[in-house]
Amino acid sequence: MSVTVGDPLSTKPPVPREKLEEIFTDIREHPLFDHELYGCLNCGICTATCPAAHYYDFSPREIVQLLWTENLEAIYDAMQEKIWACAQCYTCAARCPFHNSPGGLIMIMRETAIKHGLPSAQEVLKPFSRVLMKVISTGNQLAPNMITRESFADWGPNVVKVNAPLNILRKAIPVPTLHTMDTAWEVNLKTSIELYTIWEETGVLEQLAQVDENLLNLITDIMDEKRADYEDWLAEQKEQEEEEAEGD
Ligand code: SF4
Ligand code: SF4
Repeated sequence: MSVTVGDPLSTKPPVPREKLEEIFTDIREHPLFDHELYGCLNCGICTATCPAAHYYDFSPREIVQLLWTENLEAIYDAMQEKIWACAQCYTCAARCPFHNSPGGLIMIMRETAIKHGLPSAQEVLKPFSRVLMKVISTGNQLAPNMITRESFADWGPNVVKVNAPLNILRKAIPVPTLHTMDTAWEVNLKTSIELYTIWEETGVLEQLAQVDENLLNLITDIMDEKRADYEDWLAEQKEQEEEEAEGD
């Protein structure tokens, strides 16, 4: 991913100041922001204890400092790649002497990146389109055959080790409903409809529209079909009850 603001050699057009301000305002006005940032000593304790900082060019101290000093260009740059390195373990929040939560701030920045449809968000969320499709169609998420190197590049080469034995292990689990490779279980229609309502009411679908419109169209079609199936099922139940009442 390329840097587009702070890199003087970038050939991409600079991001307008208004856009940077709009993004920062969305971060700043997030309802959790004031609970996650109280100040910053720049002491580096968060980075010293951060597992992601050991493996990536990433530092929670740096992210907190960018927000604390309101460095709009650098905040935008960090949203192109760095914020996606966080593992959301919240070790930083447990250790910060100021009671900040760098992990929580990063979560706010991620939400904002999705809201603004930043390319980094689209790229990072790509593998999860299969997971989302699975949840929407069956009510649960990963099946072993979905854990592949291509879909989860960020897991590194060890993903192959997870994939191989799981194929065998899943078949060996002595619970009949877990034998299939396609889904662990299928939830009932009512549960699926409730899940769709939660997604609609909490703005998940609006966020999805920002990062993957094709996927949104696909899952909207599935939701409509399942809702129609549910209505049919309710009508059948009602009919049955009426017949039984007449028979009494
Ligand atoms: S966020 Fe907390 S732990 Fe991290 S540098 Fe600032 S004061 Fe130190
Ligand atoms: S929540 Fe993120 S930033 Fe904080 S310690 Fe964990 S990986 Fe590091």
